[in-house]
Amino acid sequence: MNEISIYNTASRRVETVVPHEAGKITMYTCGPTVYHFAHIGNLRTYIMEDVLEKLFRFAGYEVHRAMNITDVGHLTSDADTGADKMLEGARREGKTAMQIAEFYTKAFFSDCEKLNIAKPETVISATSCIADFIKLIEILLEKGYAYLSGGNVYFDTSKVKDYYVLTGHSADDLLTGVREDVTEDTNKRNKTDFVLWFTTSKFGEQELRWDSPWGFGYPGWHIECSAISLKHLGEYLDIHCGGVDNIFPHHTNEIAQSEAAIGHEWCRYWFHPRHLNDASGKMSKSKGEFLTVSLLEKKGYNPLAYRLFCLQSHYMKQLVFTFESLDNAASAYDKLKGRVAALKASVKGGEAADGAAVKEYHDRFIAVVGNDLNTSLGLTLLYDVLKADIDPATKCAIIADFDTVLSLDLLKDRGEDGGEDLSELEELLIKRAEAKRNRDWAAADAIRDRVKEAGYAILDTPEGAKLKKL
Ligand SMILES: [Zn+2]
Repeated sequence: MNEISIYNTASRRVETVVPHEAGKITMYTCGPTVYHFAHIGNLRTYIMEDVLEKLFRFAGYEVHRAMNITDVGHLTSDADTGADKMLEGARREGKTAMQIAEFYTKAFFSDCEKLNIAKPETVISATSCIADFIKLIEILLEKGYAYLSGGNVYFDTSKVKDYYVLTGHSADDLLTGVREDVTEDTNKRNKTDFVLWFTTSKFGEQELRWDSPWGFGYPGWHIECSAISLKHLGEYLDIHCGGVDNIFPHHTNEIAQSEAAIGHEWCRYWFHPRHLNDASGKMSKSKGEFLTVSLLEKKGYNPLAYRLFCLQSHYMKQLVFTFESLDNAASAYDKLKGRVAALKASVKGGEAADGAAVKEYHDRFIAVVGNDLNTSLGLTLLYDVLKADIDPATKCAIIADFDTVLSLDLLKDRGEDGGEDLSELEELLIKRAEAKRNRDWAAADAIRDRVKEAGYAILDTPEGAKLKKL
């Protein structure tokens, strides 16, 4: 198995990822709060997580990945203060919280699709897991890590041995950033305690509430990810991902409550890609415009040019966004597509790729990109392939192989962009036939499920397997 290293926030250094179970990676991603369109800065994080997942698969690991959709209880300040984001969205648009959640969940996945970000294997909305949250809160109460106060259930951070294990910061360092106009919640025993379950809310009427042993109410935000991750990925999580702004308090609180509940170390590697900023150092707006994928499209950019822009720099570096730099990425993307199209056209009929060369470059790609997810060196290797003294068919095969991780649609014809591209599914059919030949029925079934997810059935005919639209 090839080694892959990443910067681990918990140890504050680059480490080789050694999974709890050899050859198998469990990966959890904090999903979006679906009250607004996603900012391209947040999507940078999802792009890098997507590359990481695909790289592990590329290197032969089995990956199980889960992501939550926050459709209840996430507060604007990310602490237990401020307004409720879902409520804010509902008020702004005169819709119910569920309508808002549905609309923006769809919008999020549509953006992901345009950026070739694959959907994680398991995607779960918070509102569908209320019983799981209640169960976990009950365990925390039973074990003495939580308390009831003023109608709410709080997590008692003073009961945890090392609350700041993720950041290494002291309480004082982290609390100086708290805004002064925020009124302290006097129900809390300690400043860093956080709400697990609300029955009384100072954020206005909540539309979405459920029965619980502590009264009619709704869950706090942090409990979501712990409960969903523990349920779907087990008690030993390999990699937890999220935006850098989630490190404190969200991930710090996730660790506290998860480890309190299970009684041992929970997650070993914490992956936090850095922010995208504009020249003034702020991320949310550029010249007054909220930067979304649709805005880029409206301005005539291919969303994949933005993906390339992200891949050109290291995920641990803050990326400065300007339209000039996006223009450069867009022109690089066009040139790259042009070169690959010319290469494709030069492949002679019947010319087969050299398997040994493809394998050699496959391993080189892992060695390069697997070293702390160095995507820009991966791109350099791609340009090296284009220049190398290798026949066109082999070059195309190597590029197709790299593109399963880069996901830049390098071999897709430009004309196909509007229509449906079935090349990926056709490739799956070949893999399925191979799996069947090897009597690997589980793999064959998994491929059939993936094809079905893409909206196609597989018909086994005397001339071989065929795709049929569902
Ligand atoms: Zn989370």
